[in-house]
Amino acid sequence: MFFLKKFDKFLQMRYNKIMKKTIVIIGGGASGLILANALPATERIILIERGERLGRKLSATGNGQGNISNLSAGKEEYFSVDPTGAFRAKECIRAHNVDELCGYFLSLGVLLSADERNRLYPTGKQASALTDALRFSIEKKGIETRLQTKAVGLEQTSNGLCVHVETENGRERIFADFVAVCAGGKCAKNFGTDGGAYALLQSLGHTVTKLYPSLVQLKTDTLYTKTWKGIRVADGVLTAKWQGNTRSEQGDILFTEYGISGDATFRISAFIADHVADGVELSVDFLPSFSEKQLLDILTEKRKNFPDLPQTELLFGIVNNQIGRAVMKRADGDISRAVGLIKAFPLTATGTLGYDYAQVTKGGIPLSETDANLQSRLIENVYLAGEILDVDGQCGGFNLQWAYSSAKTVALAIAEKCK
Ligand SMILES: Cc1cc2nc3c(=O)[nH]c(=O)nc-3n(C[C@H](O)[C@H](O)[C@H](O)COP(=O)(O)OP(=O)(O)OC[C@H]3O[C@@H](n4cnc5c(N)ncnc54)[C@H](O)[C@@H]3O)c2cc1C
Repeated sequence: MFFLKKFDKFLQMRYNKIMKKTIVIIGGGASGLILANALPATERIILIERGERLGRKLSATGNGQGNISNLSAGKEEYFSVDPTGAFRAKECIRAHNVDELCGYFLSLGVLLSADERNRLYPTGKQASALTDALRFSIEKKGIETRLQTKAVGLEQTSNGLCVHVETENGRERIFADFVAVCAGGKCAKNFGTDGGAYALLQSLGHTVTKLYPSLVQLKTDTLYTKTWKGIRVADGVLTAKWQGNTRSEQGDILFTEYGISGDATFRISAFIADHVADGVELSVDFLPSFSEKQLLDILTEKRKNFPDLPQTELLFGIVNNQIGRAVMKRADGDISRAVGLIKAFPLTATGTLGYDYAQVTKGGIPLSETDANLQSRLIENVYLAGEILDVDGQCGGFNLQWAYSSAKTVALAIAEKCK
């Protein structure tokens, strides 16, 4: 009896070795493509993408230039709505860090280099190069790609995990040993990410945190911004103050009829998008390279030298004319008040634009519902990677680094189980 049992186990092991495991990846975006490539080619890998092409969003990142990571990705802050998520995400990013990412892409033939802000791009500055390299490698590895195939259900059955999909030809079921959900968040639905994929995991008992659009334009009180619509402050400093916190970002600030846009705005939104409802005070420094004292001296001198200049025109040649007139009017012609407004023009944040305008979703499936390998704690052999999880990063390549690090974590865990 003992020997029979041993023999049975031996046969089972041999069978497992001979039989390929089926791994289904839901979502052919950044994390899904990276994961597919990092899995052992000896297994049967099926990549399901609802859109007509793989990596559509990846090809549009970084204004089409593909800002794939950031040299500071291990050091800078990541965010999560569920309190411990960000800490775990950083551990994962340190384990599969930016150097590893560079080596990974180099192995696919893509060379990366950093700009002055530590942002990493393919040296050819084409995001499509990242997608193409991943796609070519997937084809070479013989990974089964199923386009225009939308996962609409996920369940555990007695025959293993079952993914229900919808295609042009109707509904179908795909059975799998492992399922990795890489279906993204709720932002930019034109790239296939409308938040519908959360339901796949909710049906298994997972929860979803509160969601917010991030890396997005900010709505503010519009008394001034509306009349300044279209004016771009190149290299201004935008400061946000909320609940005892302060954060400043330097860069373009673009005034719009709803509030502000531009890269400084996008960057600061990562810190405040989920706090706007509780009150966030903003201020714009139009001339960060000049101190208040310097400006005070310059304007005092200017008033002395040009006594006939109407006081509303005193800031002509110093800041944009329209802004200058509004500042002088608000300051009642008082120079020191005008300087104060040039250095910290106050605006109140009243909201953000919506998910269609945002680059990333704040919130998602809490990391606390996954183990250290990002496996669901509720259903064995279901893994999660990328933006669907409650992790978001700052502007500048941090979100694609998370897509990479989380996908690699999952790939190694599944590979280990397939051994
Ligand atoms: C315009 C824009 C520019 C950006 N630029 C940058 C940048 O420069 N640097 C940076 O770090 N980040 C950038 N981001 C953010 C970054 O692109 C995302 O965080 C990242 O792509 C998330 O990867 P992901 O794999 O989780 O999801 P995604 O890349 O969004 O991929 C998810 C995929 O899943 C598919 N899918 C969804 N539901 C289903 C389903 N039910 N069945 C089958 N398929 C499904 C979708 O069609 C999609 O292809 C940008 C985002 C946008 C919108």
